[in-house]
Amino acid sequence: MDSNCIFCRIIAGDIPSSKVYEDEYVYAFRDINPQAPVHILVCPKEHIACADAVNAENSVHVAKIFEAIAKIAKAEGLTNGYRVINNCGEDGGQTVMHLHFHIIGGIKLGEKIL
Ligand code: 5GP
Ligand code: ZN
Repeated sequence: MDSNCIFCRIIAGDIPSSKVYEDEYVYAFRDINPQAPVHILVCPKEHIACADAVNAENSVHVAKIFEAIAKIAKAEGLTNGYRVINNCGEDGGQTVMHLHFHIIGGIKLGEKIL
């Protein structure tokens, strides 16, 4: 828990969020500024700053995130697909330095990333 980190504070319940899923490793909630009908952020409960900080010691959290993503997508009815996005670092457009994966769906997305 990093008390300066907004997502750690959301996970701890200090800041309210619209939770969609939680387990021992993972916390997921709706993005405050949704870019599609379904826009969910999936985070490790442990503070990991970004994808670049994933290593052999903490990669179990990433595996658990992807197990959760499949469950959340089913629960949200995303039967025809969805996009998972991770922004890493300044050039990657990351604005909150707590690892998170965006689930974007509920609409037919374009094939381009940029
Ligand atoms: P990033 O740009 O770091 O990949 O994504 C950060 C995301 O967090 C953005 O889509 C932004 O809308 C979302 N976000 C930032 N602050 C909050 C918050 O306090 N609550 C929620 N639910 N989402 C937030
Ligand atoms: Zn954090």
